[in-house]
Amino acid sequence: MESWEQRLVEFLRRGQRDRVQFLDGLKNSVLPMQLRRIQQNDKTVLKELVLPAWLDWDLLYEWSLHHAGPLKGRECILCNRNAEHGHFYNDKFICEECLLNVKGL
Ligand SMILES: [Zn+2]
Repeated sequence: MESWEQRLVEFLRRGQRDRVQFLDGLKNSVLPMQLRRIQQNDKTVLKELVLPAWLDWDLLYEWSLHHAGPLKGRECILCNRNAEHGHFYNDKFICEECLLNVKGL
């Protein structure tokens, strides 16, 4: 299986720089929650995303794994931000910051 970088190089070799740029900018248009669903192979997320025809599920899935690094942690149900530290309540994640806010009320 080829690495993600090789894929991008292959696009460039074929003169498809726009594809590389699209994939690069994709992380700005996909919400953390959607990214996680892609990583979980949940194809229903496709209904919420506007993607070009050349971007098939396998490529999108690979893309999501490649971007798993910076987005580690969980999405907080209160502020929708990704956080590494927090607590689970009934399987729902609340980040440390929100937790402090809630306790402060
Ligand atoms: Zn939060």
